[in-house]
Amino acid sequence: MKVTVFGSGYVGLVQAAVLAEVGHHVICVDVNEQRVEDLNQGIIPIYEPGLTPIVQNNSQAGRLQFTTDAKLAVEHGEVQFIAVGTPSDSNGAADLQYVLTVAKTIAQYMTGDTVVIDKSTVPVGTADKVRDIIAETLAQREVSHQFDVVSNPEFLKEGAAVADCMRPDRIIVGSYDARPHDIIRELYEPFNRIHEKIIFMDVRSAELTKYAANCMLATKISFMNEMANLAELLGADIEAVRRGIGSDPRIGYHFIYPGCGYGGSCFPKDVQALIQTAETEGYRPEMLYAVENVNKRQKDKLPSLVKQHFGADLSGKVFAVWGLSFKPKTDDIREASSRVLIEQLWAAGAIVQAYDPEAMEEMQRAYGVRNDLNLVGTKEAALKAADALIICTEWQPFKAPDFDLIKTQLKQPVIFDGRNLFEPERMQRRGFTYYGIGRGESV
Ligand code: NAD
Repeated sequence: MKVTVFGSGYVGLVQAAVLAEVGHHVICVDVNEQRVEDLNQGIIPIYEPGLTPIVQNNSQAGRLQFTTDAKLAVEHGEVQFIAVGTPSDSNGAADLQYVLTVAKTIAQYMTGDTVVIDKSTVPVGTADKVRDIIAETLAQREVSHQFDVVSNPEFLKEGAAVADCMRPDRIIVGSYDARPHDIIRELYEPFNRIHEKIIFMDVRSAELTKYAANCMLATKISFMNEMANLAELLGADIEAVRRGIGSDPRIGYHFIYPGCGYGGSCFPKDVQALIQTAETEGYRPEMLYAVENVNKRQKDKLPSLVKQHFGADLSGKVFAVWGLSFKPKTDDIREASSRVLIEQLWAAGAIVQAYDPEAMEEMQRAYGVRNDLNLVGTKEAALKAADALIICTEWQPFKAPDFDLIKTQLKQPVIFDGRNLFEPERMQRRGFTYYGIGRGESV
């Protein structure tokens, strides 16, 4: 099939590459000229495991093209994906300007019947807006092409995006009627072979499904963080509690790790957007407010532990920070808890020596060159003459480090572990002062 994808970010680029990989002919269009130029030279703008070879191979095979030419792109596709950003506006609601601009662009250039597939995460009612804009623009053009608007939210996880798109758990398809079902089935046939994964529903339910999924996941995290804080006060160990409750199949082990707060481009923004949607309907979403508030508080957890140990004035202190991305296997630092930590360390006068396997460039881009930020090439280099080590992201190479080396490099053997990577008792035996989340202090 001929497919057009608007947006070449984490969602658009991965979706375009995976569709090309199974044989579709895909044009991916972006307004970011530099990004398109890079992609045309095989330079991949984001870190996502397994993405580079499939982008490069499919580009070489002629099944995947990148352009800034929206007209060319729209004329190409039988289906048009909208996969552009929906960041929070000043109230926390989803900013739909990019989605609606793309809808208008599609209508301006479409030359025949088409199916418009919204993959961006958008509030309930957005498909209606997209449909209205396309209808209006076609009317202005005095053409009468048929079109369908489909809500097909994306559930990929950054860090596993290629695998998730190749083998999705489910494919949610919301439509106004059954007319686009056949073309959607054909499009996704290669991903729907083992068992039926497509779940057809109405557009509003599809739009809400995405928010409900992300808010449920965020709820699990905030719940565990709440329990972790309680465990600390009560002298219990949240790791034991986690294993204890995870063994109940109704709860399960997934997504119940306590930590230093959730971040990323989705959970914080989607929880806020659903709050705004609810408030617009005159409904106060108590649970979502709590999820959000617990997370905000949790992001302060590491900086407060540091200040509890070293005092409020951190001037002259140097901190080694391991992990900047909001989770492992991505370079994405949007809303990462590392940023809240680092900004609070700076505000208290400290210097940060940080290492991340993939997110250093993003960090440099976000904060520029500063005297109090030293981005170093290895996790060991970050330790050099630092007053303590702080772990923000659970990258694999951080899980079994050389503790003797850590001890010799740090000025004092102090570790603040935002991801509970180590056993407090063992850390104590090794001679560290160790702070985990919900595990008490081990000196
Ligand atoms: P992103 O910011 O990485 O990429 C968006 C891209 O769209 C950018 O490259 C931007 O230049 C481009 N763009 C903006 N306006 C455009 C236009 N008019 N025409 C063409 N391109 C345009 O965003 P993302 O992380 O890929 O997210 C996209 C959507 O998918 C969001 O709604 C997000 O909530 C949702 N989503 C994201 C993830 C994730 O893990 N990142 C997962 C599921 C859903």
